[in-house]
This record gives sequence, C-alpha cells and structure tokens, in this order.
Amino acid sequence: MDDCIFCKIARHEIPSTVVYEDETVIAFEDTNPQVPVHTLIIPKEHYASIASNVPESLLGHIIAVSARVAEIKGVDKTGYRLTTNVGDDGRQTVMHLHVHILGGAQMPIRMGPAD
Ligand code: AMP
Ligand code: ZN
Repeated sequence: MDDCIFCKIARHEIPSTVVYEDETVIAFEDTNPQVPVHTLIIPKEHYASIASNVPESLLGHIIAVSARVAEIKGVDKTGYRLTTNVGDDGRQTVMHLHVHILGGAQMPIRMGPAD
C-alpha cells in the first residue's frame, strides 16, 4: 500500500521510535500517547484490520509480541491493556491493523459507548 502511513513506517520510509522489530511485525511509539506507555504493534504486511482475513499465525504472533513489548516497556508486572480498533464504531483512524499496548496508568473501567 503506497499511501499507507503504517506501511511506510514498516518500510522505514518515515521515522518512528522502534521498540521491537522482526521479520513480520514492528512495534513503535504512538506519536499521540494517551497514557504513559502507548506503543503500537503492526504486521509489516498490510491488512486493514483484524477483520481482514489475517492468518491466525500472524495474529498469534502479534499478540505474543505484544506481551514481549510490554516487558520491554516495563509494564508486564503492573499490567496493561491491548486494544485493536475496527472500523467506524471502533474509532479506527489508521486503516492498517494495529494493536495498542496501553500501560503505566490504571485504565478506565467503563467500556461502554461514548457519551
Ligand atoms: P486508531 O484510532 O486505533 O486507528 O489509532 C491510530 C493511532 O495511530 C493513534 O493513536 C495515533 O496517535 C497513531 N499514529 C498516527 N500516526 C502515527 C505515526 N506516524 N506514528 C506513530 N503513531 C501514529
Ligand atoms: Zn498499510
């Protein structure tokens, strides 16, 4: 995907603060952090979201690496939240599958609709 910002990050065509990288995924800092630890993990191959027929092995790898990234970021003991937004109601803004790793603060309890 030529005009996808996360594909460009995966190809190192635009800068990012990389936390972890291997052959299939890359994790980097969110540029607009919502909590003290806010890191994103993406597959290097373009998928619009988790609803895009992503191979289960890749989904599993993303989740496994998320736990590794939480260790790297030092929130594995205190806890963290993984979030992946899908589509309009999910408030997905970047249409390249990404999982948010959110930590360093207590997450809100409420998970219902926006006010
Ligand atoms: P979502 O609403 O789930 O699609 O989240 C997209 C996230 O990507 C937001 O938290 C943005 O702050 C983040 N973001 C957008 N552009 C960049 C970028 N170039 N580098 C790092 N994070 C980004
Ligand atoms: Zn992409």
